[in-house]
Amino acid sequence: MKRIDAHLHVAADTEESRALMERYDLKYMNICVAEDSEGAWRHQADTYSSIALTHPDRFDWCTTFDLPRFDDPKYVEKAILGLERDFAAGAVACKIWKNFGMEVRHPNGDHVFPNDSLIKPIIEYVASQNKTLLMHIAEPLACWLPLDEGSPHYSYYREHPEWHMYGRTDVPSHQELIAARDAVVEDHPKLRVVGAHLGSLEYDVDEISKRFDKYPNFAVDISARLTDFALQNTEKIRQFCIKYQDRILWGTDLVAGAISKMAPEKQISFIHYAEKTYREYTEFFESGDDVVVEGRTVQGLGLSSAILNKIYVENAQKWYPGM
Ligand SMILES: [Zn+2]
Repeated sequence: MKRIDAHLHVAADTEESRALMERYDLKYMNICVAEDSEGAWRHQADTYSSIALTHPDRFDWCTTFDLPRFDDPKYVEKAILGLERDFAAGAVACKIWKNFGMEVRHPNGDHVFPNDSLIKPIIEYVASQNKTLLMHIAEPLACWLPLDEGSPHYSYYREHPEWHMYGRTDVPSHQELIAARDAVVEDHPKLRVVGAHLGSLEYDVDEISKRFDKYPNFAVDISARLTDFALQNTEKIRQFCIKYQDRILWGTDLVAGAISKMAPEKQISFIHYAEKTYREYTEFFESGDDVVVEGRTVQGLGLSSAILNKIYVENAQKWYPGM
């Protein structure tokens, strides 16, 4: 069965990594992430666009734009020019990352939220080009809660305390960030928005359902949140997948960059990890029996092949036209 991994960061340019793609009949949608205002992220665009150009049957890509430069009056104009160039080069979407709302600040210290008027023309440009905005805004709710060994996010926040917001008063709440994301979806009804990582509403599918019911231009990808999904009531999740079968995109959020540039032993361990990830991400959706997700035994969803085909393929093609 063909599957589109609609959210990852992997230029599979070695024999082993391509063999893995063949085994699962995968297509990759590689995503650029901007962590700076000077275009250092551009090497990602170069890597992902060139592999998509060489193997259009196996790769697509999503661009992004520089973080704000407050001393550059032409910042917005240049960001739009970059998008124009990337869309012409085949990018099917534009990503905005969690640093909007959590890290980027105006010179006066105020956070730049995703619905800030500064970047509104950039978002309007994405909509005007009939491209999709992939929004990874906020973090899992666990980010604002005390470290909890039982949480699927325990090791990430233990290893990345800079992103753990519990007890901090200098960052917006989860609720404020989600509201700012929702405002973008609401303000641009003609813009398709995909909320990465279950739209940062991984703790309860009812919260996602509310947005789906309110915003026809909103979908989510499952990437990096399989465990959150799998730990909820199986029947509730199955019904959610059936009811919203046109709004869920499949993806893993594997991160490697260009595999050929990794040390040989890292390449091997990455392929093992990717293989395990694909096994878990497919078994959970496909099997009706008990499956193991991140070391926890849960019941698989056993979805029909028609619904699987939507989640794996058709939804990615519909939400990212041009794919
Ligand atoms: Zn990602």
